[in-house]
Amino acid sequence: MSDAKLIATLPGDGIGPEITEVTKTVLNTVVGEGRLRFEDHLFGGASIDAHGIALTDETLAACKAADAVLLAAVGGPKWDTTNPDDPRPEQGLLGIRKELGLFANLRPVRAIDALIEASPLRPERIKGTDLLVVRELTGGIYFGEKTRTETTASDVCAYSTEEVERIARTAFRAATRKVTSVDKANVLETSRLWRETVVRVQATEFPDVVLEHLLVDNAAMQLVSNPSDFDVIVTENMFGDILSDEAAMITGSIGMLPSASLGNPDGPGLFEPVHGSAPDIAGQGIANPLAMFLSAALMLRHGLGWESEAVALESAVDRALAGGLRTPDLGGSANTAEATEAVLSNL
Ligand code: NAD
Repeated sequence: MSDAKLIATLPGDGIGPEITEVTKTVLNTVVGEGRLRFEDHLFGGASIDAHGIALTDETLAACKAADAVLLAAVGGPKWDTTNPDDPRPEQGLLGIRKELGLFANLRPVRAIDALIEASPLRPERIKGTDLLVVRELTGGIYFGEKTRTETTASDVCAYSTEEVERIARTAFRAATRKVTSVDKANVLETSRLWRETVVRVQATEFPDVVLEHLLVDNAAMQLVSNPSDFDVIVTENMFGDILSDEAAMITGSIGMLPSASLGNPDGPGLFEPVHGSAPDIAGQGIANPLAMFLSAALMLRHGLGWESEAVALESAVDRALAGGLRTPDLGGSANTAEATEAVLSNL
């Protein structure tokens, strides 16, 4: 069908192909047959086996031409190597993020009622939590100049106003209540530029969204003591890396966490579960597909602008869990096919 949205699917390795196939079925059921067209491409270890590199020009071109990219996971012991000259599956991940200009990483964290006991945090603290961490993904200390001598080392942290403006806009657009900008403006010059820039973007472009600022050390405390108070958290690359993993503990299992990476508004976004390729359970048909389903929901929302379909998928996942669905990682015995069936029957 000519007006179908083209989804470049990258099943990758390990449990990746298993959870990708069932996700296509779920997506077709949510949006209706014919509205999406899926094209699989080799990526990661599978691409190394076939072509010697993790991300080929063909796969990259296909992703750039798609409306959205849906990635499962890459990697596994087969491609583990200590030789820096050998190709590694993870090179594909870094390569595609860079080539697609994906500067914003979005990680939603919801305390799902049915799983509230799975979190290490007390239920009364996390109940009602529905927050989004918006992490700057392509700047800051991870990308600055590095130096090393025998006895000293340095990593430069640099940001430009343009880099801060575009991530701030992503956060303000995603906010329903407020944006909490996290920095270390009492110490770091980059944080002072960050704060000034976020204040200016809010005042000139998003005056209706409430903006507050937290120092990163305080934010780390508030995330576990009062997580339901947050709506959108926007922060730089390294702070976001740490805070998003901390926030992830609210949901309990890595098999539940989706993410979206966005960049150029005219280019495709990349949607993927936070977990890896789980080689220890690959091929057994027992992987939890819910993080992949929730990543597909993010694709519908942020990649295609199909909000009501995204909500339908997310609430079907919630209802399946409320109905007792538990895969082995959640302490149950449902396999991938049964988990898929449970979500489909709640759509
Ligand atoms: P992992 O996330 O693959 O697995 C960690 C543990 O969680 C394992 O016990 C696994 O069985 C379990 N698990 C993960 N996802 C699950 C799911 N959907 N359902 C049920 N259980 C699940 O992390 P790891 O073991 O550190 O890494 C394995 C491989 O994945 C490595 O090669 C690593 O480099 C790669 N990796 C890839 C990505 C990615 O593709 N974005 C992310 C992290 C790790």
